[in-house]
Amino acid sequence: MNAIQSISRLLTLALLCAGATSSTVWGQDRPPNVVVIFVDDQGYNDIGVYGSPLIETPHLDRMASEGMRFTSFYSASAVCTPSRAALLTGTYAQRIEMPGVLFPHHRRGLNPDEITIAELLKQKRYATACIGKWHLGHEPPFLPTRQGFDWYYGIPYSNDMYLDSKMKMASDVVFREGITRDEAVYGAPSRNLVPLMRNEEVIEYPADQALLTKRYTEKAVQFIEANQKKPFFLYLAHTMPHVPLYASEAFKGKSKRGLYGDTIEEIDWSVGEILDTLDELSLDENTLVVYASDNGPWKLNEGRGGSAYPLRGYKFQTLEGGMRVPCIMRWPGSIPAGSECDEVAATIDLFPTIAGLTGTDAPSDRVIDGHDIWPLMSAQPGAASPHDAYFFYRANNLEAVRSGDWKLRVTEADGIELFDLSEDITESENLADENPRIVTIMQALMASFDAELKANQRPAGTL
Ligand code: MG
Repeated sequence: MNAIQSISRLLTLALLCAGATSSTVWGQDRPPNVVVIFVDDQGYNDIGVYGSPLIETPHLDRMASEGMRFTSFYSASAVCTPSRAALLTGTYAQRIEMPGVLFPHHRRGLNPDEITIAELLKQKRYATACIGKWHLGHEPPFLPTRQGFDWYYGIPYSNDMYLDSKMKMASDVVFREGITRDEAVYGAPSRNLVPLMRNEEVIEYPADQALLTKRYTEKAVQFIEANQKKPFFLYLAHTMPHVPLYASEAFKGKSKRGLYGDTIEEIDWSVGEILDTLDELSLDENTLVVYASDNGPWKLNEGRGGSAYPLRGYKFQTLEGGMRVPCIMRWPGSIPAGSECDEVAATIDLFPTIAGLTGTDAPSDRVIDGHDIWPLMSAQPGAASPHDAYFFYRANNLEAVRSGDWKLRVTEADGIELFDLSEDITESENLADENPRIVTIMQALMASFDAELKANQRPAGTL
């Protein structure tokens, strides 16, 4: 479908956002397990099968050879909090008032009235765990344990943040690096020192960041083993490779791409551990595993940031480099091995897709922006992106839209830009002047979508 066709189709549809549901594909006995591995700030290029020249990722490469690699897959934001809010709710983060990064002094979070993938799967009594970085509110009403997850283990926000001294300490909390309880509670907070939590309590401060990937992996494997007899949902949101970068001794100094590469290679090891566990427990063919990054790489000096090559732009930007991310999905026997998908798909699609696959009911009392992409994942002949238009917000500003191969971007810094991504993945040739009609149509598309979204906004959770 060309852009004009898809735009006119979209205008005709008047922004009806409900996705078509796929018929359930699981066998009689139980719906599929779901594992979502979500990493932090990994660039589009930073995996072997995505072309990384220096970082070695044999397990992710194997995952791709046994599943599907997406090449036009988008996160819903170029920063952490909104990206995660959108992933878990299937909704653009601006619609649920989660447009920006939360800090430890913020008293807000993902509204408990929102329905997360974990809550969706509770309809079928899934065992659910959140391991890793949450970043949707660290106060008790907003924590994973109040949003559908049976248990939580991880750091509540970014690893470059600091302790909120009001957080509840567990009776067995471990203080490290010579810090006492009094210093933790009454001292000035220090950047890069963050709490490690179990459910709703701090169990270690500061968290030993070099061990996070390893510990998350151990907890993930334990969770899978403990729940192998029932359907489970594991949301494993790695802290790395967000700065400050840390790898355990086994990986530190081992990659050809410095500490950044070390962190990715340790995450790759972690993926291998999870796939091996599924294999050993004969859960392979009943488990969908999704791997994606929450946003593009941070532009940092000394090699501390990743690479979005060949894409233009970085984290924080609505350019492709900020929001087009690596994504691999694997489900042997259901997703064709070694397949590739270049259709537009997005993290917001996971919610409705998982609803379709598990026979659960997505909420009908609210707008869900994502669509069921099972036709793409199962490589049905002629399957096309369900996104007639995909929208790129920066904070509360709608900056860009992609429709078919066209992307229109309107910013103060760069003016009006129109790119044909099929010919120009690097967003370097501005075709706006030659195509005024497309610019006008796409601007109208942005205006009408933004007006609809803002008319149907739902509030964030506040204390
Ligand atoms: Mg991030």
